[in-house]
Amino acid sequence: MTAEPPRFIGSEIYRKSSFGPWHPLRIPRVSTVIDLTRAMGWLTPARYVASPRAKPAALGIWHDPAYLAALQRAEAEQVVSDETRARYHIGTHSNPVYPEMYRRPATGAGGSLLAGELLTGGGVIYHPAGGTHHGMPDRANGFCFLNDPVLAILSLRRAGARRVAYVDIDAHHPDGVELAFAGDPETLMISVHEEKRWPFTGALGDDGGGNAFNLPVPRGLNDSEMAAVLDALILPRVAAFRADAIVLQCGADAVEEDPLSRLSLSNNAHWAVVAALRPLSPRYLVLGGGGYTPWSVGRLWAGVWATLAGHDIPDRLPKPAEAVLRSLSWEGNRRGRDVPEHLFTTLRDAPRAGAVGAELRVRLAVLGRRAAP
Ligand SMILES: [Zn+2]
Repeated sequence: MTAEPPRFIGSEIYRKSSFGPWHPLRIPRVSTVIDLTRAMGWLTPARYVASPRAKPAALGIWHDPAYLAALQRAEAEQVVSDETRARYHIGTHSNPVYPEMYRRPATGAGGSLLAGELLTGGGVIYHPAGGTHHGMPDRANGFCFLNDPVLAILSLRRAGARRVAYVDIDAHHPDGVELAFAGDPETLMISVHEEKRWPFTGALGDDGGGNAFNLPVPRGLNDSEMAAVLDALILPRVAAFRADAIVLQCGADAVEEDPLSRLSLSNNAHWAVVAALRPLSPRYLVLGGGGYTPWSVGRLWAGVWATLAGHDIPDRLPKPAEAVLRSLSWEGNRRGRDVPEHLFTTLRDAPRAGAVGAELRVRLAVLGRRAAP
């Protein structure tokens, strides 16, 4: 353990930014986490680090310069040609043209690059705007214009961390991250994601060239099952790997009420993973990811910071924090009406325990028999 207290990397660029009125990323997320944690008194100025915007040259350690130029041009012109759309997958329904379409991802990437440097001497960093795990070197993919987890791992490595463990508990498979480090025995990759869901990669038998452990899980995954995954797969593999750094992608879309997946976790499951990984490495970076219900993502990610920074989560939120949650709206989704009261007044979900399914047990056993990378 290092004496350096945990730090939170954020930016105000996310506050008013939207991917468009119909897109799942029209909702505020990072700004909610900032407002909630400040309202709780958990995020003091000394702990907050403003994310720099990465320059194309810095992004060029993994991304294609021609793609970066196309992204900047699209932001400036707010329109793309058919040729650009076909080549770089920008200006599509998933990856739309929007006002901050270069600046926003470049700020997220800048935060992840900075995190690697700040962790040189060890410590804990939380960067909820990070976690864009689908980004490809030369194209946008799945709401991700850049791949900040890849950049974070490269930055950690440049700052002296040789062995990096990447753990991803988003509902979707991190296809971009797996591609970036395929076959690299010094990057352990563990992903837990919903089966038969986009991007349809990350099958149980896909070992990414030896260093990837992919666990597709059936719909309805509950907290007891996630605890089994933590105990049987994540913790033993990460401990045995003796990582110099751990990067956790803590997407918030595997919770029961998320509109883009069919998993049934409560936020307790995510916080348990966040806490359990902490002692296993001197450097620990926790990123965000998916999460498409405004209240759920804000509550889950605020609780991640409480977990990392050592704050107790009260049963009932004080009024200023409740006011942050009540100020949110979810236009264009019927679940934005008649929002359950506990999403305003609490951070912690009721646990969603259940039976550990036979299929899941079989898959954990299959991965348990695999050799270390
Ligand atoms: Zn996701």
